[in-house]
Amino acid sequence: MNENAKKGGISVDTEHIFPIIKKWLYSEKDIFLREIVSNASDAITKLRRLESLGHRESTDEQYKITVTLNTAEGTITVEDNGIGMTEEELSKYICNIALSGAVDFISKYENEAEGAKNGIIGHFGLGFYSAFMVSDRVEVITKSYTDAPAVRWICDEAGSYETTASDKAEHGTAVVMHIAEDEKEYLSTSKLRAMLDKYCSFMPVEIYFIDADKDEDNEKEPAPINDVTPLWQKQPSECTEEEYKEFYRKVFLDYREPLFQIHINADYPLNFKGILYFPKLANEYETIEGQIKLYYNQVYVADNIKEVIPEYLLMLKGVLDCPELPLNVSRSYLQTNTYVSKVSAHIVKKVADKLCSLCNTDREKYESIWKDVGPFIEYACMKDRKFYDRTKKALLLPLTDGSAKTVDEYLEEGKEAHEGKIYYATDKALQAQYISMFEAQGIKVVLFDKAIDTQFATFVEQYMENVKFLRVDADLADALKGDGVTSESETLKAIFADVLPEKTEVKFDALKDESIPAILNVTEDSRRMEEMMRLYGMGGDTTFPTESTLILNTASPLVQKLETEQDSEKAKQIASYLYKISLLSQKKFSADEMQSFMKDSFEILMKL
Ligand code: ADP
Repeated sequence: MNENAKKGGISVDTEHIFPIIKKWLYSEKDIFLREIVSNASDAITKLRRLESLGHRESTDEQYKITVTLNTAEGTITVEDNGIGMTEEELSKYICNIALSGAVDFISKYENEAEGAKNGIIGHFGLGFYSAFMVSDRVEVITKSYTDAPAVRWICDEAGSYETTASDKAEHGTAVVMHIAEDEKEYLSTSKLRAMLDKYCSFMPVEIYFIDADKDEDNEKEPAPINDVTPLWQKQPSECTEEEYKEFYRKVFLDYREPLFQIHINADYPLNFKGILYFPKLANEYETIEGQIKLYYNQVYVADNIKEVIPEYLLMLKGVLDCPELPLNVSRSYLQTNTYVSKVSAHIVKKVADKLCSLCNTDREKYESIWKDVGPFIEYACMKDRKFYDRTKKALLLPLTDGSAKTVDEYLEEGKEAHEGKIYYATDKALQAQYISMFEAQGIKVVLFDKAIDTQFATFVEQYMENVKFLRVDADLADALKGDGVTSESETLKAIFADVLPEKTEVKFDALKDESIPAILNVTEDSRRMEEMMRLYGMGGDTTFPTESTLILNTASPLVQKLETEQDSEKAKQIASYLYKISLLSQKKFSADEMQSFMKDSFEILMKL
C-alpha cells in the first residue's frame, strides 16, 4: 500500500463485523447492486436539492449513474456525478459503519421548504457495506461538489483501508467493487442486466450500463436502462388507458390485457402511490399468481409483501411505492408498523370503491369481467368483513341467460314469483330442465358453477337479512305449481315403494308444466352438508344425500297413464326408469348406474 497513505481500520465496536456482513447482511446477495446504485441516486438527489434550495448554482449538467462491468479487471463500478464526499465526510460516513450520512443531511436541511417534501433516504443502514458480500476489495473515488480535493479510499475484506489523494476532476463518486474469486458469477452481462432490471428499473436518475469488454459494440447513443418517471408517479388524470396497458405489459411481461386498473396517488395524510391491475386469466383453472412489486422511492424492495396488501388481494398485479417505509424492512417491523397497516386498509378501500364505481357507471363492462373477477371478490368478501361491507352493493349474481343482477336487483325484480328466494343452478346442462321450468315462470336463475359460489351463498345468507339461496332442485317454488288439484295416489306410492331407495320419499304435486312427469328434490341443507363433507374429504364421489323426494307431477299424462297400468311388471319398469331419469339431472351417474340405465333403455326400445 502507498507510503503516504493514511491507514486505519474500520471503526466499529464489533470487530468481526466484516465476516458477518459477508454472510448475513442480506439473504439475497444481489441486493448489493441495489444498495450501491441507490446510494448513487441519493447522491444526485442531494445535489439537485442543493440546487433547488439555491445552495448551488444550477447547471445544465446531465445527472446520471453509470454501471460498468469490466470482466478483464474483475470489477463492477458504479459511478455518479452527485454530491460526492470530502475526505472528512468519507471518513465519517463510510469509515464509521452504521453512521448514516442521511441522518446528518436531513437534520441540516429538513427545515427548509423543499427539504421536507422530496423525502431523501430515510433509512439508516449498512447499505454501502453490502458491496463486501461479493467483493474482496472496494474502492471509493470521490470528489465533493465543494472545492475540497478528491480522495481515493480502498478497503479490503478484513476492514483495513487506506486513503490517498485522487486526481478525479469532476464531482461525484465511483465505487469500484473488485469481485471476489468465489463470486465471479457476478461478472456477467446478463446477470448484471437482470439485476439492474429487477432493482433499478424505475430509479429516479438515469442509469447507463456499459460492458467495458465490448466497448466498440456499445451503442453510439446509449439509452438508459431505467424509466425515471414511472407511470405511478403521474396523476391518474394525466394517464391514458394505453399507457396503463403498456406499463402492465412492460412490467409483468403479460401479453393479455388486464381487466382494469386502480391508480392510487395518495400524498396526504398517507403518502404512497401505486397501480394495481386485475389480470385476465387464461382459463378458470389457471393458478392465480399475482405479483405486487413494492418500491421505496422508485427503488425495488420486494414482491408480494402481505403485510402491505392483504393476502386475498395478492392475485392482483401491480406496483406500490411506499416512501415512508425503510428500504430494508423486516417482517416484524412491517407487522407492527401503523403506516403499513394504514396503507393496507387504504388499498382495500380503493379496490372496493373501484368495483362499486364500475358497477354504477360502467355496468356493461363490469358484467363482462365478472366471470374473471367474481370468484376473487367472493373470496375477498369471505376473508374480510370490511371488504364485504364496502362491496355488497356491487356483488353480481351471474344469471343462466348470460346477464347479471346485483343481489338487491334480483330480490326486487320478480319478487312475487320467487318470494325473496334466490334460485341457482350449479350445472347449466345437468339442471337444464329445472332451469327452464323456473324461467318459464319468470324466475331468473343464478349460475353458480364455481366451487366457491355455494360457500359464498352460505356466507351471504349470514350477513344479508332474509336472503335464502336455493338450488333449482332443492325446492318446488310455488310459482311452478299449477292450479290443478293434487291428489295422492296409493297405487303410485305402492309402485314406487318397490323401486326407490330407502330414503327417497314420494310426493304429489300438479305442476304447471305437464310435460315433466317427475322431479327429484334434495333439500338445500342436506345437499350443502354433503358438499361440505366432500370438500373435507369425508365422503366419496358417489355419495348422494340419503334423503330426497321424488315429486310426481299429477298433471303429467305419463304419470296418469302409469297409475292405470294393469301390468305390474311394466309399471315397475316405468317407475324405475322415471326415477333414473330424474336422478340424472341431480348428479352424474356412477359407472354401475350408467350401465343399468343403458340396459333399461335398450329394453324399453325393444318394446316399442
Ligand atoms: P445509508 O445509505 O443507509 O445512509 P450507506 O452505508 O449506504 O448507508 O451509506 C453511508 C453514507 O455514505 C451515506 O449516507 C452517504 O452519506 C455516503 N455515501 C454512500 N455512497 C455515496 C455516494 N455514491 N455519494 C455520496 N455519498 C455517499
